[in-house]
Amino acid sequence: MGIKQKTENDSMSDDTQPPESRGEFALINFIRSRAGQTPAAGSLGIGDDCALFPCGNDTIAVTTDMLIEGVHFDTSAPLRQVGWKAAAVSFSDVAAMGIRPEVLLCAAALPERFSMQQAREIILGLEDACVRYGVILAGGDTTSSDGPLSLCTTAFGRAGGLRPVLRSGARPGQVILVTGSLGGSILGKHMTFEPRVDEAVLLNQRFKLGAMIDISDGLAADLHHIIEESKTGAILEADAIPLSDAARVLAGKDGLSPLYHALHDGEDFELLFTMDAAEAQRLVEKPPFDTPVCIIGTVAESGFFIRENSSLNPLEPKGYEHFK
Ligand code: ADP
Ligand code: MG
Repeated sequence: MGIKQKTENDSMSDDTQPPESRGEFALINFIRSRAGQTPAAGSLGIGDDCALFPCGNDTIAVTTDMLIEGVHFDTSAPLRQVGWKAAAVSFSDVAAMGIRPEVLLCAAALPERFSMQQAREIILGLEDACVRYGVILAGGDTTSSDGPLSLCTTAFGRAGGLRPVLRSGARPGQVILVTGSLGGSILGKHMTFEPRVDEAVLLNQRFKLGAMIDISDGLAADLHHIIEESKTGAILEADAIPLSDAARVLAGKDGLSPLYHALHDGEDFELLFTMDAAEAQRLVEKPPFDTPVCIIGTVAESGFFIRENSSLNPLEPKGYEHFK
């Protein structure tokens, strides 16, 4: 490995490029188109919350996430929380497949200004999350950096007989559900959230799920990922979307509505999923966990809408996107 000189053309924000070739999702589409995808039977490559691959009679789910100081957390964030978040984002992606994370690796680039105590705080945060979710911290890498703190986590889980729940499993007529409440995570939840691991596994064990994703980009953007992969549409019911207290507080400060924050704020790390209506009724009447869960819309043949005061308005899939 060596250090590649950065040229002008490497810049993701190079505005000499046509607009359709910019942005995080344009890059992911490019990577996907270049991946020479010849997956083995039963495996799934780029495009879901985890990659899946067969291993003996089982299927392994694996995901990797990068957290950068100044992008995913403030320099003022307690480092133990930073460590927690680094582990929790990856656990959330494994959970989004309906699978329990079991093993974590963490590669850390620690700023030269860091003391040993600061480095330890990060490790303690990773450990907090691993202990909470029963995950083994099995390795990683440590390097110093003259740049910002960055942490790259990789989490693995085994399906163990459960069917992985894909983004592509939504079908017209199904209903759309979400756990918890949404919006305003920037006020704190984005650092301290609890990935919905137990909820995801219980849902997958006890109910027939269509599609599932964890909300990292925002409700509208992540629902749009589901309908794109499933080749369907969706209608959200504005009145049914669970607004968090933080969405209301933030709306009071910035003049946007709490609904806007619930639709478009990122990093709530709740589960967004679809299932047949009768199955959903069974779930909301008697959820197998304490976390709130509610029905917020329906999967349609096509289109992307929100019903507000009885009128159907087009919904924009905007949410958080890197490299805009
Ligand atoms: P999530 O928000 O669930 O972490 P992302 O939006 O980051 O998912 O990624 C969507 C898909 O694109 C995933 O399957 C991910 O593995 C893939 N992906 C993202 N960035 C890259 C990359 N640099 N190289 C290869 N695959 C990538
Ligand atoms: Mg995800």
